[in-house]
Amino acid sequence: MDVSPILDPLNPAQREAVSAAGGNVLVLAGAGSGKTRVLVHRIAWLLQVEQLQPWSVLAVTFTNKAAREMRARIEEMLAQPVGGMWVGTFHGLAHRFLRAHWQDAGLPQQFQILDSDDQFRLIRRLLKTLALDEARWPPRQVQGYINKRKDEGLRAAHLDDGGDFFEQQMIRIYCEYEETCTRGGVLDFAELLLRAHELLRERPDIQHHYRTRFRALLVDEFQDTNAIQYAWLRLLSGDHNNLFLVGDDDQSIYGWRGAKVENIQSFQRDYPNTQVVRLEQNYRSTGTILAAANALIANNPTRLGKELWTEDGAGDPVRLYAAFNEIDEARFVAERVRQGCAESGLRRSECAILYRTTAQSRLFEEALMQLGLPYRVYGGQKFFERAEIKDALAYLRLLAHPEDDAACERVLNVPPRGIGARTVERLRHEAREARCSLWHALNQALVGNLLPARATGALRQFVELITRLREARDQPTLADLTLQVIEASGLPAHYEKAKDGRGIDRLENLEQLVEAARRFEAELHDEEADPLGSFLAHAALEAGDTQADGHEDVVQLMTLHSAKGLEFPLVFVTGVEEGLFPHSLSVDDASRLEEERRLCYVGMTRAMRQLYLTYAETRRLHGREEAPMPSRFLRELPAELVEDVRAHRRGKRAGLGRASAPMAAAGGFRLGDQVVHPKFGRGVVLNSEGTGSSARIQVNFEAVGSKWLVLAYARLERAE
Ligand code: ATP
Ligand code: MG
Repeated sequence: MDVSPILDPLNPAQREAVSAAGGNVLVLAGAGSGKTRVLVHRIAWLLQVEQLQPWSVLAVTFTNKAAREMRARIEEMLAQPVGGMWVGTFHGLAHRFLRAHWQDAGLPQQFQILDSDDQFRLIRRLLKTLALDEARWPPRQVQGYINKRKDEGLRAAHLDDGGDFFEQQMIRIYCEYEETCTRGGVLDFAELLLRAHELLRERPDIQHHYRTRFRALLVDEFQDTNAIQYAWLRLLSGDHNNLFLVGDDDQSIYGWRGAKVENIQSFQRDYPNTQVVRLEQNYRSTGTILAAANALIANNPTRLGKELWTEDGAGDPVRLYAAFNEIDEARFVAERVRQGCAESGLRRSECAILYRTTAQSRLFEEALMQLGLPYRVYGGQKFFERAEIKDALAYLRLLAHPEDDAACERVLNVPPRGIGARTVERLRHEAREARCSLWHALNQALVGNLLPARATGALRQFVELITRLREARDQPTLADLTLQVIEASGLPAHYEKAKDGRGIDRLENLEQLVEAARRFEAELHDEEADPLGSFLAHAALEAGDTQADGHEDVVQLMTLHSAKGLEFPLVFVTGVEEGLFPHSLSVDDASRLEEERRLCYVGMTRAMRQLYLTYAETRRLHGREEAPMPSRFLRELPAELVEDVRAHRRGKRAGLGRASAPMAAAGGFRLGDQVVHPKFGRGVVLNSEGTGSSARIQVNFEAVGSKWLVLAYARLERAE
């Protein structure tokens, strides 16, 4: 058997991990040391050398995209397909498990996933029904409370208020929330994990089945698992000693979302016979970038401690740019990206601009647009999160399961059919009193003739629509079904009339949804019994996926959090200022400050060849002009590794202020330009987005108001 494709591309420590004979293995190593590579090669080793069947391997990745890549890499190495392997995120795998055992888990067959936006809306409605004031019980806080408890494995029934009024109310809300979700057959993200854990814990037969089936369990980014995920892994593994975990305590960045870096220590305690492998050679970054990152992270007092080295040369210094303000920062970064592409031959997709908060992306977008550099923002609103798409999906969900309150409320009056707020309020009340779904309550209201004539007529229309759609479910394909539902729902006509000028956009998106359904179905396995259910789950789970896919050659913009695991030749870590990074919410808390520093370490270690750190001396933040201090993280970098690229002194830089020349829009037009359209007449350019053939421009027309137009088709001309 030729194992050279598996072992040759590895160093001795990596080989040791990949070929470890039995027993649990923990690979504990710093950034860029090949942990993910080791995990992939380990799977190939298990399949080829240990002769495991693909279906007896379960691997957890950070995103669905990483899962697809992993599978492709293994297939390439082994030159054979590895279908049947369970590879995905914790949420994706828990979902798959629950789909297979919906009855055992006490779920309706058509159970749906509630994404965090849906969850938030549901909580708001619940607070209203319970007559709780949002100002005192902020829905975000309630959402956080519930998710945190679930991540710790706690249900409302497990909680004790200890006589505390606040706790008592929270538990009451949690309790109502659980009931509403159960009635609607919906599961939030945290519930997927909790339910999967409970099912495995309480059913020895199922436990036995999976323990026998999965001969190997592998986890990437183990430092960011939470309590319930770790508990689930332990249950799956039992005493089979078949865990292979890779992680880096210095890169734990999801503590704020319940991840427990202590799991690394707990693991070594819970499984004392674990073989620990350390990888110390970094293959990603230059010596200088690595030394700077090492120096930064050394300031964290609570770490397991490890050093990284590289055979690579020192390379360029880390470059620091002190911008005059945030606009200057954006222009500087865009200009350096342009240079990198033009002079160093980088592809655009090899350049990444990283920031702490999503709000920072806009100025980088404008600056890139001005230079005609196409880009993509990751982690922004994804396709499946757009309002019109969620409306259409809500209809599809009702088709699958009309008791789904979240979906029902979403489209009860979208498009408007005369179901007013008072009627909705009343139905909600009825549903709550009768402890039934909204769908049930509204049917009851119709039977009992409980509502005024107008409302009754409108409701009847809605019920007839949903019933008709449900009866017509047997469409030959998912795409046909989606198309039929969209057309019957009246959404296209509704959006066409929309006053926000984005009607055409939204119609196109609805068409894209049909296309997405077609593509999804084409990739489905034949045995899939419920294509609609899987499609809806796919929409909910993929919506959370916020990482770059790197296929298009565009500049990559993303938050530091979503850059985890990735690497780019040229990286900008921006906004490195006190209050922004470290974030103001974290500076007073030692452990959160450490997490911010780890985030900075993650950002810096994404860079392969060149790393820029930038900050602004003044920044408009939350509507106010601030003069932030440079981040403390900058002081923690050895001066000899950092080069200050600031060329001018403050004051000399004319034209960098806010009252500078108008920003370019697309197609040679500038914001504020007077234009003429053959049909709509005269107008003024307000905004633009995208580049090339997808560039769109917003114009405020004198005759018809504001409209978004696809530039390539708009036949706009400059007004004389
Ligand atoms: P992170 O902590 O950021 O997730 P990681 O430890 O998972 O990083 P990888 O992404 O697996 O590291 O590897 C970093 C880079 O180094 C990749 O480009 C990988 O292909 C390369 N690499 C890893 N090991 C070797 C090796 N033995 N020889 C050559 N290149 C390697
Ligand atoms: Mg990795």
